[in-house]
Amino acid sequence: MRRSKFLKLKVREASFITRALLSTGHPVLAHIIPMRRCNLACGYCNEYDHTSTPVPLEVMKQRLDKLADLGTSIVTISGGEPMMHPQLDEIIHHIRVRGMIAGLISNGYYFTPDRIKRLNKAGLEYLQISIDNVNPDEVSRKSLRVLDKKLRYLAEHSDFHVNINSVIGGGIQNPEDALAVARRAVELGFSSTVGVIHDNDGTLKPLGERERNIFQQVKKLGNTDLARLNWFQDSIAEGKPYKWRCRAGARYLYICEDGLVHWCSQQRGYPGTPLAEYTMKDFEREYNTEKWCAPTCTLQCVHQVAILDNWRDPQHAPGVTKPESSIKDTIGEVLRAE
Ligand code: SF4
Ligand code: SF4
Repeated sequence: MRRSKFLKLKVREASFITRALLSTGHPVLAHIIPMRRCNLACGYCNEYDHTSTPVPLEVMKQRLDKLADLGTSIVTISGGEPMMHPQLDEIIHHIRVRGMIAGLISNGYYFTPDRIKRLNKAGLEYLQISIDNVNPDEVSRKSLRVLDKKLRYLAEHSDFHVNINSVIGGGIQNPEDALAVARRAVELGFSSTVGVIHDNDGTLKPLGERERNIFQQVKKLGNTDLARLNWFQDSIAEGKPYKWRCRAGARYLYICEDGLVHWCSQQRGYPGTPLAEYTMKDFEREYNTEKWCAPTCTLQCVHQVAILDNWRDPQHAPGVTKPESSIKDTIGEVLRAE
């Protein structure tokens, strides 16, 4: 069942990628926050609180409808811990009803056999869990020892794709743990990726020699397709800036719990426009705006989306208006090489 659903997902992904290559006029990926609250308090995290309430289902549906109307291909539900939202299944179902790919990022704590089966039924297509260490410490309790039982439940009951992301940098005590996490992920039949932890404005924290070594080993173990897409991580590991075009605010959208569009989780406030009022004018401005934080940014998913457009439409510094529109839905635009 998981294999057949995975193949269908791959076919849909391929059609969305083709559409994204042919047309720059729609978002490829949106991260949406149904709940800022989290059950944990990871030491490096700036994306949670312990008090907020869930966004009401009807409000979430309106936001998802707007994303669908903008032509969004993939919606990933993030947090906080989105599994704490009491109507998560209905949110996932609505993403699917509107024809978008439904993904979820979770810390894994709430997975039981019954909960996993309900996510299958809701139509979840992929899940990412980040595991930071083998044993819990003062920085993170997203630990293999705590979560291994949950991973076994997922291996047995889920029919959606599961990716385990291990993390290096940002004060994680034993970088070798990332290798143990990646090995366990592969053993259970999941894909595996490795991320470099960013600081509070999304920018670079250089890795030490020991961490860089482990980072390369984990990358070799992981998903080779994603490893190829994450080429920028080699520069990050070496602490070097690199050149790319961040299309946040256009091809990638981050929708916070208040329904505002931001560049990403680490650049909240830009542009800070309500999603309900977001127009193609906003989209085009952000598509063409060079992001000051790009040369040392570590956010994997925004990089992966940017690959679709890196070769076209040079950007302009904030405040500079590009004379002619670069948002075209034509193959001619695709062929205009730089
Ligand atoms: S589980 Fe995720 S959202 Fe919660 S504190 Fe940790 S990193 Fe942040
Ligand atoms: S470069 Fe883009 S994704 Fe990275 S921190 Fe800046 S706005 Fe966010």
